[in-house]
Amino acid sequence: MSLLEKHYTQEHQIFRESIRRYFEREVTPRVEEWEKAGIVPKTVWRDFGSQGFLCPWLPEAYGGVGADLLYSLISMEEGAKTHSSGFLFFLHSDIIVPYLEAFGSEGQKQRWLPGCASGDIITAIAMTEPGTGSDLAAIRTTAVRDGDHYVINGQKTFISNGINCGLVIVVAKTDPAAKPAHAGLSLIVVEEGTPGFEKGRNLEKIGFHSQDTAEMAFTDCRVPAGNLLGQEGRGFYYLMKKLQQERLVAAIGAQVMAEEALRLTIDFAKTREAFGKPIGRFQYLSFELAKLATDVELGRTFMESLILDHMEGREIVQKVSMAKYWIAEMLNRVVERGVQFHGGYGYMEEYPIARLFRDARVYTIFAGTSEIMLLIISRGLGL
Ligand SMILES: Cc1cc2nc3c(=O)[nH]c(=O)nc-3n(C[C@H](O)[C@H](O)[C@H](O)COP(=O)(O)OP(=O)(O)OC[C@H]3O[C@@H](n4cnc5c(N)ncnc54)[C@H](O)[C@@H]3O)c2cc1C
Repeated sequence: MSLLEKHYTQEHQIFRESIRRYFEREVTPRVEEWEKAGIVPKTVWRDFGSQGFLCPWLPEAYGGVGADLLYSLISMEEGAKTHSSGFLFFLHSDIIVPYLEAFGSEGQKQRWLPGCASGDIITAIAMTEPGTGSDLAAIRTTAVRDGDHYVINGQKTFISNGINCGLVIVVAKTDPAAKPAHAGLSLIVVEEGTPGFEKGRNLEKIGFHSQDTAEMAFTDCRVPAGNLLGQEGRGFYYLMKKLQQERLVAAIGAQVMAEEALRLTIDFAKTREAFGKPIGRFQYLSFELAKLATDVELGRTFMESLILDHMEGREIVQKVSMAKYWIAEMLNRVVERGVQFHGGYGYMEEYPIARLFRDARVYTIFAGTSEIMLLIISRGLGL
């Protein structure tokens, strides 16, 4: 039995049915089109938001229904069945918007959050720069105070939702001389259309083809000082505060993809015949699938235990780093074997395992690389 079983209510089930039907009707049939276009149309985000599927956890005053994290899990579980990794609604709903809700002033929340819930505002977060990703303290983008404004200069890259976004939280140095360096970081909201803010090209990637991942340039970009999130110089602290949920959500994304890849592979092994019997009846394949199923089950149990801890407000940064590390690596083992056990069909675009194989790859890289996860875990061991 799932650890979460007794936490699901009838409302959760109704939500699951309704989002599943929505995905089947509105998303699955259009994934190919979006993969080719390299982007999910904004109209899809708006429609998704109008159904109440974006940021349902937000308080009613800001356009949500005060839902718990299980609704986010359900959305991701059902979303994984569409094989549409590019529609990164959970990055928006469960990773970026929480910054606005947690650290924004009342005025900022009233201004932005309803649009985030309706899908009129798609969000992005811009930490990574051409010269630095893992090492946030080395960020070079600056935001210099000039009267009632900040003047932002710098470049960002690999920004998810980078083309679609109407609002981006930029991580910039408001005090380049600060010691330690990370004490000089702040979070500043930049809205689409602000002079000096340019979205760059939609980057060509080996996977996540329908995700608009882009470069961004800020050139003497004047942003009202009122767009600062929280306090100046607290940016690194805020990032660390939200890290737990970010890594947990990334681990969930990897887990649900691994489950789908395993399901596809087992289904295939049951029907594909070679040497007069289904390939799943060859002991080698069945044992390998049994090993993968055990890995996937371990990932599920670990993930669910962390979801419960997180919902109960426990501090589990160390464990979510373990989960992000282990589940992302496990996912990559599952998709690699999945392709192999599909034979030539695994290499064909029309078989979803091929796309999952490509899309899985980034999970050990974004939201903190596997090596950075190991660094955090080892530090936690006192090493
Ligand atoms: C599809 C995609 C979407 C992304 N979306 C976003 C986004 O929305 N916003 C955003 O800000 N960023 C985003 N990123 C960027 C991502 O977070 C970074 O690529 C990642 O953090 C790694 O940074 P880097 O690319 O600069 O690699 P580097 O930090 O240069 O690392 C290179 C290699 O060195 C290793 N390494 C670095 N430091 C250490 C160390 N101390 N010990 C051991 N090994 C180390 C790394 O693990 C890696 O293997 C995205 C990336 C991709 C590919």
